[in-house]
Amino acid sequence: MVSEIPSYRRSGVISVEELRRLGLLPPEDRLRKGPVAILECPEMIPCNICVSACPSGAIRMDRIIDVPRVDWDKCVGCGNCVAICPGLAAFVVDLSKPGKAYVTLPHELLPRPREGEEVTLLSRDGREVGKGRVVRVWERNRTLVVTVEVPEELAMEVRAIWVRR
Ligand code: SF4
Ligand code: SF4
Repeated sequence: MVSEIPSYRRSGVISVEELRRLGLLPPEDRLRKGPVAILECPEMIPCNICVSACPSGAIRMDRIIDVPRVDWDKCVGCGNCVAICPGLAAFVVDLSKPGKAYVTLPHELLPRPREGEEVTLLSRDGREVGKGRVVRVWERNRTLVVTVEVPEELAMEVRAIWVRR
């Protein structure tokens, strides 16, 4: 029997359903407790720098080509993995406040987002999905780590921002 090719290999964009099926999404009750990492990194690639970048020892990988797994209970949502991931595949999502979500994402384009600024929210495939507000910006290794407040229903959709000015 020929095994089915995952659709993200054909499209280059992974879906929420695929992430869930692969066990890469935290359970709802963990998301409600506070910020937690989501590593959208399903391929067996020779990279493991997120493992040593994590101060909590929350990322597990037995071999360098394994898919990284987050121990949701150990993760403190610091965002170090977001800053360090060369594939821009690491995010932090926080659903602890009713009606709102906070998505922390990497940003490597100019202009630099400012705290308090309204930005356009983009999906994994670059579609505009709404507006959000920047609440925090910090930098490591020339990658900006940006936290945006977004409508709760977009928590699993928003994975980039567009600063239009
Ligand atoms: S957000 Fe911080 S604690 Fe959580 S997996 Fe990433 S580096 Fe580790
Ligand atoms: S650093 Fe990024 S690309 Fe490398 S294993 Fe971790 S999540 Fe995947």
